[in-house]
Amino acid sequence: MSQNAIELERVAKTYGGQGKSPAKEALKGIDLTIPAGSIFGLLGPNGAGKSTLINILAGLVNKTSGRVSIWGFDQDVNPRQSRAAIGVMPQELNLDPFFSPRGALEVQAGLYGVPKSERRTDEILDMIGLADKADAYARSLSGGMRRRLLLGKALVHRPQILVLDEPTAGVDIELRQMLWRNVRKLNDEGMTIILTTHYLEEAEAMCDEIAIINHGELVVRDTTAALLGRLDAKTLVITPEGDAADMPRIDGVKITQRPGGRIAFDFRKSEINPGAILDAVRSAGITLRDVATEEPDLEDVFLALTHSD
Ligand code: ADP
Ligand code: MG
Repeated sequence: MSQNAIELERVAKTYGGQGKSPAKEALKGIDLTIPAGSIFGLLGPNGAGKSTLINILAGLVNKTSGRVSIWGFDQDVNPRQSRAAIGVMPQELNLDPFFSPRGALEVQAGLYGVPKSERRTDEILDMIGLADKADAYARSLSGGMRRRLLLGKALVHRPQILVLDEPTAGVDIELRQMLWRNVRKLNDEGMTIILTTHYLEEAEAMCDEIAIINHGELVVRDTTAALLGRLDAKTLVITPEGDAADMPRIDGVKITQRPGGRIAFDFRKSEINPGAILDAVRSAGITLRDVATEEPDLEDVFLALTHSD
């Protein structure tokens, strides 16, 4: 069994370029491996190339050059096997309005050559919470239901890898939580998950590893924990007892007032130990009612790495 669910070597994509449409280099040679069993986040600003990459994996967009290997199968050498290993929930709602959820799942299973006896249409309908809508026209489904149906369609052939492109964009909290519950369960059962999302706190909570792409190039790829540790910023927030007007000055520490009489000390954790700040505060005769620290979140990391424009 391959260690990597996905291997990309110098994968490039240029759209257009013929006739009137100007050429658009959407991917500029991406090298990336995604380990089997992980929940992997693919992040980047709008237009970075995330959907292009995912659609190449899905076989929906032809790469211009490079090598794509899915579950050990080279996409160009073993197109059928590599396609069978992956299920994609696309960003766009591309459902045939005349199919019911049951019909859409059956047709999808047929497309992937899943024999009738091995189909699990009812199990999937249950999982995506559409059992009671199984025979309704897709056009009568709400946006959230359609999204759930797209997830179901991605699963009919029991792929080893599930790819979700912006699964929670514009969906309500309930659906979002349902999606993440499903994703975690599938991952616990061994499925490799690759997802893109605009909600960085979601990526922070869900993903073991993260790649950030920008302008068609890989900016960084690391474990979520290591990425969060990259930024050197840290903040200590104290709530003094009573009125504490005179805060001690400390070299390399920026002091700002916060609402509720709180005071924030911003510093570099590589240079200053928060204990030293607390000592200085106490030596100045200030009594503390409360102390908290704040670490940078993924949003800070993301902005630091993609701020160029
Ligand atoms: P993301 O999903 O990260 O927002 P996309 O992969 O959708 O980014 O797009 C990457 C770039 O490629 C963008 O500049 C986009 O306008 C362009 N692009 C995407 N699809 C096409 C297409 N079919 N034809 C021409 N340009 C495209
Ligand atoms: Mg996209």
